[in-house]
Amino acid sequence: MLRSLRIWSAFILLLPAAAAGQNEPDWLTAAPFTYNIDYGDGHVGSPEYLKKLQDAPPQLMHVGEDVPFSSVYGTKDGYAGNRPKDLAVEEVRAKIAELKTYVASLHSAGVEWVIPYINNMTVIGDPVKRTGYWGFFDNWDRYGEFGFGPRPKEDMLLAQMHYPFEFPRRVKAEHGVAPYQVFHLCGNNPNWRRFLLAVTANIARCGYDGTFVDEMVLRDYCQHDEAKFRSYLARKYTEEQRRRRFGRAALDSLKLGHPGEGALWYDTQAFYAESDAELLWDIRDEGRKVNRDFFVIPNYGPWGHFDGVYKRAPSGFNAGVWAPYCRLIMFEEMQRSGQLAEDLFIDFILQYKLAFALRFRGGVLSYHATDPTGVELGMAEAAAGGGGALIQPGYGAPESRRRFRRFFREHADLFAGFRSQADVGVVFDYNQLYWNNATHLQDVYRLSQYLSEQHVLFDLAPLSDVSKHRLSDYSAVITPDLTYLPEAVLKELDAYSRGPGVWLDIGHSGWFDEDGHLRTRASRAKVLRRDELNQLVPYPRFAPYLLREADINDLNELVALRQATLAAAAPIPPKPAPEDLRRLLETHTGLPLAVVPQPGLEGLRVNVWRRPGAAGEKVVAHFVNYYCPIPIKAPTGTGQSQEAESVDQHGPKPLADVQVRLRVGNGKVTAVKLYDPDSSQGVPAKFQQQGRQVTFVVPAVRIYRIAELTVVRDV
Ligand SMILES: [Zn+2]
Repeated sequence: MLRSLRIWSAFILLLPAAAAGQNEPDWLTAAPFTYNIDYGDGHVGSPEYLKKLQDAPPQLMHVGEDVPFSSVYGTKDGYAGNRPKDLAVEEVRAKIAELKTYVASLHSAGVEWVIPYINNMTVIGDPVKRTGYWGFFDNWDRYGEFGFGPRPKEDMLLAQMHYPFEFPRRVKAEHGVAPYQVFHLCGNNPNWRRFLLAVTANIARCGYDGTFVDEMVLRDYCQHDEAKFRSYLARKYTEEQRRRRFGRAALDSLKLGHPGEGALWYDTQAFYAESDAELLWDIRDEGRKVNRDFFVIPNYGPWGHFDGVYKRAPSGFNAGVWAPYCRLIMFEEMQRSGQLAEDLFIDFILQYKLAFALRFRGGVLSYHATDPTGVELGMAEAAAGGGGALIQPGYGAPESRRRFRRFFREHADLFAGFRSQADVGVVFDYNQLYWNNATHLQDVYRLSQYLSEQHVLFDLAPLSDVSKHRLSDYSAVITPDLTYLPEAVLKELDAYSRGPGVWLDIGHSGWFDEDGHLRTRASRAKVLRRDELNQLVPYPRFAPYLLREADINDLNELVALRQATLAAAAPIPPKPAPEDLRRLLETHTGLPLAVVPQPGLEGLRVNVWRRPGAAGEKVVAHFVNYYCPIPIKAPTGTGQSQEAESVDQHGPKPLADVQVRLRVGNGKVTAVKLYDPDSSQGVPAKFQQQGRQVTFVVPAVRIYRIAELTVVRDV
């Protein structure tokens, strides 16, 4: 039953995007929540640890390997650290009993959900000396009562991934795993899968609400992958479609592809993503045999820079495909949001836009968000972005956590059940990367920054939303270098542009069809076209998303790179953009698009959401102040103090008298009220309405402020 349901659902996932979009209910905002992460030692059975949590409990607590069976080591001495140990059955039973008490104590301390750590691919041990993970493997049959089944006939070493090339590597003393080595196993290997599910079942038995799944890398060509790939192609394409797409239809003739192999390489990458999604689904459902609300949260890696996203695309990473099985998806970002220089901000706006577009909740693990300002700004971003969470490392800023948790609870009505009120839809398709079209995603980074700083309300609109029904909410739709597009999507865009909406195409979207064939018929649509984004948005002289992953992970290097770039003798760009994107859109839509018209407030960002009701609608405008200086510590080894700057320098720079201009639906605005986490009550604000346009002034924004507009429908 379960299997046939799965095949059915897999078919639904593979329906043409436009058809699926019409039947799905609208995706709405959700209340954000507080989320802390700590892989430290000494949690289990510690009254001190419990007291620390009780002081300011997060809603979700993410711990490390506080588990009876570790996915990385098998069994361990204690919980944290590099300490594999063969355990007797009685020792495991004692651990499970201890962990049940521990998880229950965290719940009673005020934590709603507790999750530990597993990893989809990494094991640590020595397969020659039979230590670490292999110590566990050799004793596998000892653990029958814990649901591991008989020991696999094949050594787990044979589950290793061997994609070309697997760089030879050795673990050095400083990596902290000596005397063992690290091995990467294939998520499609049935023995490894069975082991991961048994680990999960034991986690659920301890009372955990779900589990985190780290790394998520899958790229391999073993017999299991090849067999699953063939059934994947059989499900996804008819014989005729396979012939058109691959030039041959026989499944036996189709093998996993490699870079440069067109549609075959596209589907190979899509298959790895689908395999990762299936693993998450299996893990979730294994937990649900014990706890029917059991959930998974996978690690999606960083999205703060193009480099990190581009590198991961071929290895199973695709949040839109994982989304249906995940309670939340983690973005792992080294930096924190805020201001680095007069014109340089770090933000995670794109992460939340992406999550909302692809129908999941995003959580941003921001390693440097530990001080009150960084924590509050991170939580404000999640709340303004439509839900999800800042994933805060450690337990700093307890007062901020208490205050925001209370604010989210007492004013839940400001956060849940809203749809977007954006004027501009930026059509987004992650899978362009599968065609090796990098320009589309690069455009999305640039547009996200430009539109945010210009205070133009925008969404990412996935291809599945490109139906006339979904696009009609937007005054303008941008297709940025979407070189590969299905006919159905072009038809919908064509229909959209024949109405009042403006379709702006950058590059030549739809040059190729969804099979990668050159399209010969030109579009007849009323499209506004520019050859490249540089004509409308200046090429950035410097931006965090331009950086290589290794460079952005080091804040001092980021600052040094900015200085070097700005000091260059021949700065980029050589000339400014000939046109301005906002002005072009305003001319063609006939609407003013900046919700904050005054210049010089690029670090203030606005999201607006609306919730229709019986008598009218509620509109909420979220204001987030990124004028929050990011502390820069002196590099180690320079002789300067690590805390070179005082903490006082890093408080937020509050904004005063922000003029706001919004458009609402038909109706009369009867009240505008301002809310923030610093005060318990909403404050009324004066406003003026002229037709659909409402103007008001927000007298102060420290870090986060919400304006709630009550709109009563005209009768
Ligand atoms: Zn494999």
